[in-house]
Amino acid sequence: MLTDFSIAAAAKGLRNRAFSARELTQAHLHAIDALNPRINAYITVTPELALAQADTADKALAAGEAGPLAGIPLAIKDLFCTEGVRTTAASKILSPFIPPYESTVTAQLKRDGAVFLGKSNLDEFAMGSSNMTSAFGPVENPWKRRGDDDTILVPGGSSGGSAAAVAARMALGATATDTGGSIRQPASFCGIAGIKPTYGRCSRYGVVAFASSLDQAGPVARNVEDCAILLNSMAGYDPKDSTSANIAVPDFAAAVGRGVKGLKIGIPREYRPEGLSAEIEALWQQGMAWLRDEGAEIVDVSLPHTKYGLATYYIVAPAEASSNLARYDGVRFGARVEGHDLGDLYERTRAAGFGAEVKRRIMIGTYVLSAGYYDAYYLRAQKLRTLILRDFTDAFRTVDALLTPTTPTAAFAAGENMDDPVTMYLNDIFTVTANIAGIPGLSVPAGLDGKGLPLGLQILGRPFDEETVFAVGGSIERAAGFAALPRIRAGVAL
Ligand code: GLN
Repeated sequence: MLTDFSIAAAAKGLRNRAFSARELTQAHLHAIDALNPRINAYITVTPELALAQADTADKALAAGEAGPLAGIPLAIKDLFCTEGVRTTAASKILSPFIPPYESTVTAQLKRDGAVFLGKSNLDEFAMGSSNMTSAFGPVENPWKRRGDDDTILVPGGSSGGSAAAVAARMALGATATDTGGSIRQPASFCGIAGIKPTYGRCSRYGVVAFASSLDQAGPVARNVEDCAILLNSMAGYDPKDSTSANIAVPDFAAAVGRGVKGLKIGIPREYRPEGLSAEIEALWQQGMAWLRDEGAEIVDVSLPHTKYGLATYYIVAPAEASSNLARYDGVRFGARVEGHDLGDLYERTRAAGFGAEVKRRIMIGTYVLSAGYYDAYYLRAQKLRTLILRDFTDAFRTVDALLTPTTPTAAFAAGENMDDPVTMYLNDIFTVTANIAGIPGLSVPAGLDGKGLPLGLQILGRPFDEETVFAVGGSIERAAGFAALPRIRAGVAL
């Protein structure tokens, strides 16, 4: 089926005229028609726009002027502003928002010829690990526990719509964002690959802000090479984002096949929290064995401040969120609820527009920033941030990359972990430190748990050394030979 191609293979097929961009796009639109009412991976589908982009790609292909992504159908996380196409951040407060401008990342994908199928679902303002907090309803993970077609599993979050769309073959790849794990955790839960690049690698211009010092855009796709191809298009310096790095973008795709011979791979001793499942520990050991067989040296390392990662993240992220979300006041854009004076209008708009998790984050954020508590919480979190970064800097003096599990468990059932926000936050235990330190992290599907659900391994690298991360990820991928398919996918509905 056309929907089963990798991005690399589809690009070849399009260039050889084995099929047209219109055919490829139509196949994906059919898959969306059939599956989206159930999976809810897309908040908005844009068939006319997609077909028009496909026709433009077909013309460019025929003229021999096609960009590297000409005719490749993608899902765009509904956190990226898309000119003329509604952008909601999965929040009621932005539900009527049609941006008059395009994010830099999506503009670059368009420049390279990509086709946008629509806007994918997410946790509200990207706050969550389950996609349960979307104002547009939850997303269903297309994977099922073996022998149990009834239990609905979460796709992870916040980029759950992007990951589910790619896993279920409703897109060949997708954009996503990662503030504390939102690319890597849903990739792991949905059996696909995803990379959070180095902070500053991709422009944040036009990406709805959650926590500006942690947010990074990145791709999810069905294999490591496809992630590299997408990142090559998404990355690059942008004068419109003062935190974007003016550093040349290497050929990431070329790095995927490089191998790991002679590389030193660190295994952080502290990444063994209580309650880590035996299956995940076993897969991690397997990953080490694979890399050793490929010629890498496995080295024990210590990242002593890991235990403060979650606490640091859940102070810094809400603090920045409370400030970033102050702009949604019902005056300039988005939804408005009228009031008897300006203060009342603000209060009513924000009370009606934000969901419970977003309100919780705003309250935590304003609390840790308040005069009496700033030193006790926010300032100490900033100090820990320095120490966590120093741990990584020290480790990368002796090793080239780190190997860890992506998540402490496989996908959980919808509704689980909802009563206690702290257990929900524990999902991010292996992913948040990469955002705190700004380093790149890739999740690669590496195996299945006893119930037949996918598990990912995470590769962390030095700042701006995504190439080594891709090289290690490519080796893990080849050794793992992960070929299992989700129960629900194009052509195979339940
Ligand atoms: N799960 C984390 C949170 O809820 C991370 C989210 C993200 O990376 N956007 O904040």
